[in-house]
Amino acid sequence: MECLENLFAEPTRRDVLRWGVACGAAGVLCDSAAVAQDTAGTGALEGPKLEGVARHEALFWEELADRKVKCTLCPRECEVADVERGYCGVRENQGGRYQTLVYGALCSANVDPIEKKPLFHYLPGTTAFSIATAGCNIECVFCQNWRISQFRPEQVPSRHVPAERLVGSCRSHGSPTIAYTYSEPTVFYEYMHDSAALARRHGIGSVMISNGYIQDKPLRQLCRHLTGVKVDLKAFTETFYVDHCAGELKPVLETLETLKDIGIWFELVVLIIPTLNDSSDEIRRMSRWVVKHLGPDVPMHFTRFHPTYRMTNLPRTPVSTIERCRQVAFDAGVHYAYAGNVAMHPGENTYCHGCRHELIRRVGMQTASNRLKDGKCPKCGTAIPGVWSQEQALAFSPRS
Ligand code: SF4
Repeated sequence: MECLENLFAEPTRRDVLRWGVACGAAGVLCDSAAVAQDTAGTGALEGPKLEGVARHEALFWEELADRKVKCTLCPRECEVADVERGYCGVRENQGGRYQTLVYGALCSANVDPIEKKPLFHYLPGTTAFSIATAGCNIECVFCQNWRISQFRPEQVPSRHVPAERLVGSCRSHGSPTIAYTYSEPTVFYEYMHDSAALARRHGIGSVMISNGYIQDKPLRQLCRHLTGVKVDLKAFTETFYVDHCAGELKPVLETLETLKDIGIWFELVVLIIPTLNDSSDEIRRMSRWVVKHLGPDVPMHFTRFHPTYRMTNLPRTPVSTIERCRQVAFDAGVHYAYAGNVAMHPGENTYCHGCRHELIRRVGMQTASNRLKDGKCPKCGTAIPGVWSQEQALAFSPRS
């Protein structure tokens, strides 16, 4: 992997000419923190913490009495007193005005295979320029990225990267897509919104890798600039969300129905945790709900849990459990059910839902071969749901 120092390197004069004024005129706004990649897979930045915090007027909030505000970005609807912050720790009331503290304050950056997000029906074999800030609006006790998601911006080494620099760096690395990922992008909504809009104008798509904990209005506004979404559906019971995520299931299901209504491409990930959400009955009810409310073509990725953060008392998910969940989903009518975190498993491959012909072979998080012809199965001609070209990605506009 490339040194992170290079990810946001100064554009060359040739780059400036190639991208046009908007990308090239950004100038140097990054701090001088020495940065290096970590080994956790998030590309977390190391080095001195950001001087102060990057304040920026927040979107989606209402004024209340006594200089309080109500945040309407996510279903928590935090009511925040002056000089206090919302639950996510990255949005602060300053004198009755609500501000985001993470506008462009990136704590992680990496060039990842798009398959790592995972998005399997979105430009397979390409890379996604992947970034994050600190913060999250729920707390999953099994979070793999808790070192950035469960901390405040001033506690995490970060670097200020203007949207123009992000877009320019993405282009110079040849990635057709920016992925807002690792922590929860909803909490850095304003930066995601602005940089995705800018990226689109420069021929780059944007995907949000999210827990789906966002309100309808900001989601619809954001999707005008996105080209794909991945949502974690963590379980199919309210109890699981309350006990293990400090959240609720219902708003996530509403988000999925909104995405369906908008018409944007999206895929689902279900992290299967032994004894907590791995029963066939729960996966069957979940899969039937997906088929009924979202349609059979939304891919479902069933991925293996490994002990981490505050859930170290349970073992890794057996591969046989993942295989069973996948079969339950197929039996419920899901066309594309995948095995995740199971390297070299045939369940990582894409098979035509019409004739079961192997279309895309994956090895780990890479696409090894792709037999799709213009988005169709070369054997039976079935159109395979997904986003198969950058032109198709950039042509997306919300249905409603
Ligand atoms: S985005 Fe943050 S501040 Fe706003 S409602 Fe959600 S948790 Fe609260």
